[in-house]
Amino acid sequence: MAIAAILVGGSISVSAQSNFDAKYKSYPTYAGEDLELTVNDNGTHWRLWSPEAQEALVRIYDQGSGGEPIETLPMEFHKENGTWTASVPEQLYGKFYTFNIKFDGKWLAETPGIWAKAVGVNGKRAAIINFEETNPEGWDLDKGPEVNNFTDVIVYEMHHRDMSMHPTSGINNKGKFLAFTEKGTVSPEGEKTGIDHLKELGITHVHILPSYDYNSVDETRLEENVYNWGYDPQNYNAPEGSYSTNPEDPAVRVAEMKQMIKALHDEGIGVIMDVVYNHTAENDGSNFSLTAPGYYYRHREDGTYSDASGCGNETASDLEEVQDYIVNSVKYWADEYHIDGFRFDLMAIHDTETMNRVAKELKEINPSIFVYGEGWTAGDSPLLPERRALKENVSKMENIAVFSDDLRDAVKGHYTDASDRGFATGKPGLEETVKIGIVAATAHPQVDYSKGNNSKFPYATSPEMIVNYVSCHDDLCLTDKLGHSMQGEPEENQLEAAKLAQTIVFTSQGTPFMFAGEEIFRNKKGVHNSYNKPDSINAIDWSNKSRYHDQFDYYKGLTSLRKSHPAFRMTNAEDIANHLVFDEIDSVETPNLISYSLKDHANGDSWEEIKVVFNGAGISQKVEIPEAQWKIIAKDGKINPEEGLGETSGGSVIMAPYSALILAKQ
Ligand code: CA
Repeated sequence: MAIAAILVGGSISVSAQSNFDAKYKSYPTYAGEDLELTVNDNGTHWRLWSPEAQEALVRIYDQGSGGEPIETLPMEFHKENGTWTASVPEQLYGKFYTFNIKFDGKWLAETPGIWAKAVGVNGKRAAIINFEETNPEGWDLDKGPEVNNFTDVIVYEMHHRDMSMHPTSGINNKGKFLAFTEKGTVSPEGEKTGIDHLKELGITHVHILPSYDYNSVDETRLEENVYNWGYDPQNYNAPEGSYSTNPEDPAVRVAEMKQMIKALHDEGIGVIMDVVYNHTAENDGSNFSLTAPGYYYRHREDGTYSDASGCGNETASDLEEVQDYIVNSVKYWADEYHIDGFRFDLMAIHDTETMNRVAKELKEINPSIFVYGEGWTAGDSPLLPERRALKENVSKMENIAVFSDDLRDAVKGHYTDASDRGFATGKPGLEETVKIGIVAATAHPQVDYSKGNNSKFPYATSPEMIVNYVSCHDDLCLTDKLGHSMQGEPEENQLEAAKLAQTIVFTSQGTPFMFAGEEIFRNKKGVHNSYNKPDSINAIDWSNKSRYHDQFDYYKGLTSLRKSHPAFRMTNAEDIANHLVFDEIDSVETPNLISYSLKDHANGDSWEEIKVVFNGAGISQKVEIPEAQWKIIAKDGKINPEEGLGETSGGSVIMAPYSALILAKQ
């Protein structure tokens, strides 16, 4: 999770080169593809990488938990590559296993290893299953949407439980992967929910919060309905059991996650997975520590775990075997599960070289795969800032995007202060920072980066490097943020400000990203860090869809506008500098006004010119529009990209408080 977004400057409090580094860099490595488990015609084979183990065993079980091993196999060490192997002549489908190593004279706890692709309940033992048998019908031909440019993607960030747990979802498989395989579900008022809702809204990709096997939810007590975001990784290469209908059967979670992906793909919706390779839930007890103690983490000089994640440890992507692991793990999800994108949590804990390898090797599997991440850490790291996958270093990475906190904090107010307002809620002086978001943090002759609140230079060299958003699972969601910061104003004003804020996101260059449920004004009852709060805080109330139907229609208009008009989706910085022209507005005299044009059929748009004006003030403001025949696309909280809302010949136009004006010249 990323509660804090700390941008680390020049000072480093931890030594960049520890003795540990030197030791771990001297380890022999293994690049073969048969790590941990292979089942073939010759039987079942194990190969564990653990260069410093003194002994190693495989324990084979009938069950995923409890009981005694039915067999314990000693493993044989291969000094040249640091691996231990064992084999049996049978194919042990249906069995479970753990590894057990002796390190520093002591036997450590059993572990499923770090490459368990199927696991027993609560992920304590690895399972041997036949993956072919988990494939839904038609899986061979299954494919996510083709993406030509990442700016064409519209991301919808959601948690499995948020989407379906509320009784109003009308979904049977509440909180499960299978929720998205249910068509025809409706709210009590008859509004579409679930996958039909996503389709109706018009997003292109869902971004699912962590769906690998995580630690915090006890899979043997699902009736307790414990909620967690899942930023506490346990088994990186197996799905989370609590999202399956039967976590006791290791094949079920695999099969059901695939069914979900297939159902979404069948509707043309891509599936992006949130991945958290930057830390593990446990330190000494993690699967990393129980296979090759120490190796996978960065350390301080005194031997303690360094902690750039704020969660007790940080992984060491700059070490060969760790880098290989991250790269191979995402490739596995892309291959086996047809995942269409990866969102890297606290990406700046990883080095740019690792991230470049991630993007490059994923592209070879599927060029449509979209990789983006948080270009910051949550604390200082021994990794030198110039090597970190920071947003400031995004131009050193190819085919990777970062979240723009510039637009986020400027539009709705700073995330650390609930009552702080932003451009869209009447706070003056943020115009230039919003403009940084509008041009996707690329160099633009009319944007003065020295006036930017968060970033002081154009860090992106392409709009495909930027993800724009005003809210996500972290911090107050948009509805709650507006509720806090606009206290005393009628809800109507908050609804209008929400529309304005998202209009800025959806019309800006870069890739738009929204938090699930905002299209129906969902809230989280004012709780910002809801990672372990119950469904009563987190679940989306689908009756909101009829309650705030106007809001939903507006969001639908935004996705439609963006998808049908490439001017909002330019693909390079030069086009933005040439075709996006800001109008001169005196921000002292008329604060909270931004006006610009997308000119000359920008990026092949059918419209010759698009005028976009934002009034973030709590009062009506007058803008001067050049005389021409303009079609009104959006005005005063209404939008209609297809037919328009009428026409104007320009001149003085009055804009309602907290509203956007979009005009098109044919
Ligand atoms: Ca789990």
